[in-house]
Amino acid sequence: MDAAERQRYSRQILFPPIGEAGQEALLAAHVAVVGCGALGSFHVAALARAGVGRITVVDRDYVEPSNLHRQWLFEESDANEGLPKAAAAARRVEAINSSVEVRPIVADLTASNASELLANAHLILDGTDNFPTRYLINDFAIARGVPWIYGAAVASYGLTMPVIPGRTACLRCVYPNPPESPQPTCETAGVLNAIVSAIASLQVAAALKILTGHAGELTARITTMDVWEGTIRQIAAPAPDPDCPTCARREFHYLEESHHEAVSLCGRNAVQVHERGAIDLEDLSARLASLGEVRANPFALRFIAAPYELTIFPDGRAIVKGTSDPGVARSLYARYVG
Ligand SMILES: [Zn+2]
Repeated sequence: MDAAERQRYSRQILFPPIGEAGQEALLAAHVAVVGCGALGSFHVAALARAGVGRITVVDRDYVEPSNLHRQWLFEESDANEGLPKAAAAARRVEAINSSVEVRPIVADLTASNASELLANAHLILDGTDNFPTRYLINDFAIARGVPWIYGAAVASYGLTMPVIPGRTACLRCVYPNPPESPQPTCETAGVLNAIVSAIASLQVAAALKILTGHAGELTARITTMDVWEGTIRQIAAPAPDPDCPTCARREFHYLEESHHEAVSLCGRNAVQVHERGAIDLEDLSARLASLGEVRANPFALRFIAAPYELTIFPDGRAIVKGTSDPGVARSLYARYVG
C-alpha cells in the first residue's frame, strides 16, 4: 500500500478489525458480483469504494429507465444508450475508483460458463433475481469452497444469509429445492430502493468481514427485514444438513444441467433465448436494416419488429420483449437472427 492508498482508505483502516492488514487483503481480493441490478449495482459501487482490487460483474441485461429509481450505479445516459448493465457498471467504477480492475461480463451465468466466469473469485455476491442462478452459484461455491452471500429483495422486504463452505448451511440445506410457484418479482410487486440498499449493505458487510480474515466470527444467520414496517428479524441458520445433496453428498446437479434454453423472464412479458454462439452485430444490423428500426452499439443491437422488440447480444443471446411464450420468442429469433 502506498501513501496515497493509505490516505484514501484511512477511515476504513482506522476501524480496528480491518486495519492495514485488512485493507491490504481487500486490495488483493477478487469478488464476483452475479447480477448487476438493484442489489448488484450497490455491491459493485461499495466494493469499489472499499478498495476491493478486482471485481467481476456478470449481468445479462441492459439499463432501462424503470431501473433508475433503485439501481444506484446507473444514470439516465446509461438507459438512453441502452448500455448493458455490466458495461455501464464498469464505466462508473472507473470514475469512482480508477485503481479497481473491473471485468464486465455481458452474459447469463450458466452451468457451461460458470467455471470460466467465476474463476479465481475469492467470494461471490448474489445480485440475481432468480432461483435457478442462485442454485447454480450455490453448487459452484460449494464445489470450489468459495464463500457467497445470498440476498433477495422485493416490495419492502428482503433477506440475506452468508454461505461459508465447510462451516455454515448452504442454500440447499435451508431450501432443498427452488420454489415451484411463481414468486413476487420487482416487476409484479414493485420494490423500494430502501430495502435494496439495506439488504445489499448487509451483504457487503459480510463480504468485507470474510475478505479481511474474519469469516470465523461471522454468525450464520438468516436476516429478514421490512423497511416499510420497520422490522428486522434474525434467526440462526440451521446446522448443515448431513443429507444435503450439495454440501453433504456433493452432487452438483445445477452445475451439470444445461441452461441454454428459452427462459420466460417472470413478470416482464419477455423471453430470453440463447440458441447459438457469437454473432457479428454489425453484420446483423445491416441485414435487419430494411426490416424495421435498428439501434446498435458495440454491446447490443435493438431491433423493433412491432409488437415485439429484440435485444441481441454479441454472445448470441437475445431478449425478446412483447411475449412470454418461449415458442414465439424462439420463432422470432430464428426469423431475425437465424
Ligand atoms: Zn447444504
